[in-house]
Amino acid sequence: MKKNNVITFRVCKKTQDMMDEELDWCKREFVPPYAKWQAKDGDTVITLYESGKVVFQGKDADLASSFWIDTERINSGKVDVKGSGSKTKDKLDKSIKVDSKIYYSSSIGSDEVGTGDYFGPIVVTAAYVSKDDIPYLEDIGVKDSKQMMDDKILEVVPLIIKKVSYESMILTNTEYNKKYSKDLNLNKIKAIMHNKVLYKLREKTPNYDYIIVDEFAKDFIYYNYLRDTDNVVRNITFLTKGESKSLAVAAASLISRYIFIKEFDKLSSEIGINLPKGASDKVDEIAYKIAKEKGMDYLKSIAKLNFKNTNKVEDMLKADK
Ligand code: MG
Repeated sequence: MKKNNVITFRVCKKTQDMMDEELDWCKREFVPPYAKWQAKDGDTVITLYESGKVVFQGKDADLASSFWIDTERINSGKVDVKGSGSKTKDKLDKSIKVDSKIYYSSSIGSDEVGTGDYFGPIVVTAAYVSKDDIPYLEDIGVKDSKQMMDDKILEVVPLIIKKVSYESMILTNTEYNKKYSKDLNLNKIKAIMHNKVLYKLREKTPNYDYIIVDEFAKDFIYYNYLRDTDNVVRNITFLTKGESKSLAVAAASLISRYIFIKEFDKLSSEIGINLPKGASDKVDEIAYKIAKEKGMDYLKSIAKLNFKNTNKVEDMLKADK
């Protein structure tokens, strides 16, 4: 049984406003002392305090908080997570429970990449793995997709796509910046992209036992993101650490990463700079260099504008004047 997790971190004003709105539907009437509000999202109780501290409590606290941890990292450039959550997460990694009925089935799985990277697109892939191809995919190392380095991915994915049907979608940062708004956050963008590739692939490969999505939001939240979308794929099995529990998810993850690496390298050679992944200080440095040489508008066409890195670059440019 999963333990009761407690995850605590500080959120900036922007993240607070986003949480305020996003979690409005599940706020409780009861507000604890020194709190702005308390909400109950599934099994997780979320409390935002006047001090800007937020506490996630419950057995799914790690999952419920992960989006907001990413959001805070994007909005303020850093996040310091405390509590049983980070430790529990390590423990969970080692004791992933694989359901053999799902693992050995013919399935469609989907996974995405690029959502935490300032440079490079968001790529979402759905892949169909027939149970007959499982031994071969295991043999070439698909099961350990999480540990696979870029070199190995470039070697293995061409083998995967010979066996596996898939659908991918690439969202460039120019498109991302156009789409991103108060009403369309990163998780909603993800949900819409997952649904699109799943729908397309399901048309091509109707003989599946399960449709599995590497879980990034509780199912009812996922479907809520799609409330204005046509052709919503339902009956999805959402699994955390999905790439360890389903080779379809693992294959989808690897194909997404392969496309991401290719696009990233293309972008790097276009600019003539080796772009760094992630959203670290190193990224600020390179982004500043690009903005200085090619202008801020150019940077905005290749990076995710809403990340804190953009503000940091703007500050560095101001300091130059
Ligand atoms: Mg994932």
